[in-house]
Amino acid sequence: MNRTRLFVVLLLVLSAWTGLHTAEQNRPGDQAVFAVGTAKASRGQTATGVIDVPAGSDAAMQIAVAVAHGAKPGPVLSLLAGAHGTEYASIVALEKLIAAVDARQLSGTVIIVPLLNVPSFMKVVPHLNPVDGKNMNRMYPGRIDGTQTDRASYLITKQVVEPADHVIDFHGGDIDESLRPYSYWNKTGRAAQDAISRGMVLAFGLDHIVISTGRPTDPAASMYLENTATTRGKPSITVEAGHAGTVDPDDVALLVNGSLGVMRHLKMLPGAAPTVENPVWIDHLADVASEQTGIFYPLATRGSYVSAGMKVGYVTDYVGKTIFEARAKEAGVLLYVRAVPSISKGEAIASVGVVGKAP
Ligand SMILES: [Zn+2]
Repeated sequence: MNRTRLFVVLLLVLSAWTGLHTAEQNRPGDQAVFAVGTAKASRGQTATGVIDVPAGSDAAMQIAVAVAHGAKPGPVLSLLAGAHGTEYASIVALEKLIAAVDARQLSGTVIIVPLLNVPSFMKVVPHLNPVDGKNMNRMYPGRIDGTQTDRASYLITKQVVEPADHVIDFHGGDIDESLRPYSYWNKTGRAAQDAISRGMVLAFGLDHIVISTGRPTDPAASMYLENTATTRGKPSITVEAGHAGTVDPDDVALLVNGSLGVMRHLKMLPGAAPTVENPVWIDHLADVASEQTGIFYPLATRGSYVSAGMKVGYVTDYVGKTIFEARAKEAGVLLYVRAVPSISKGEAIASVGVVGKAP
């Protein structure tokens, strides 16, 4: 090697090292103080605050946030619940999780947003934000010049999703859904990313896992919260537990323990992370919708198995005449069944998870 070539090689090595070093220093989790909205946590501390969503064509809102900034560096994990503000078990679970994460024990940073859709929670309105009538898990990545849901989605994308290495979106059965716990694993086809998210979903511990393949692939039209992270290359999952307006301690425990399990799996907390050994992998969902408006009567319960053609419920008019019989289109496990008697044409009666092979 002559002197010129040696010089070039040294220069390349130096620039590569400098580049790596700079990239590491620029990672959000490596900052001495980690800020989300008004929450500013120093190393080894948990801070709380709010993300201020400014007023626009409609009212301003504040979304509460907690940041646990670990004593040691590591991944940034964002956990969010309450896009649907009446899926109570997931909201309560994330509120409890704030106290359960000890930043002094933590390697990395955990951002916790227990309640995204404050108006839905306060007004007891399922599925939508009553301020603008939009679903707060369909408008991502959001826009700052839109209505309240759009603006909130935009700021969550910028302040909670983009600084994260991983995101877990928490849901459950809404007021009108009797749901058994399950999770979604988003199979993108990008092998390295999918292997990490598969590890997360198994570490979370819910034993029914839906293999999700139909989500948008464009980061600029990601629609769903978890998909906003996934389309930005961040291995992420969605989890569901809780049902029909209840806060069952078993459901809350599943979600709290699952979160801690993922933190151990990602080496953010010390200790072994047990994983689900034999999960039921759901290949696809065969949803059953009502073809009539009236009074719904269920004939099957969440978690039970149904065969193709089996009657899962029926709908009557308001004076006792049966006007629709709801049958499963395929055999599978009932992930949720409608939990209230009122039903309109086109609304969901049940979601049948069709069992597939392990991916
Ligand atoms: Zn939900």
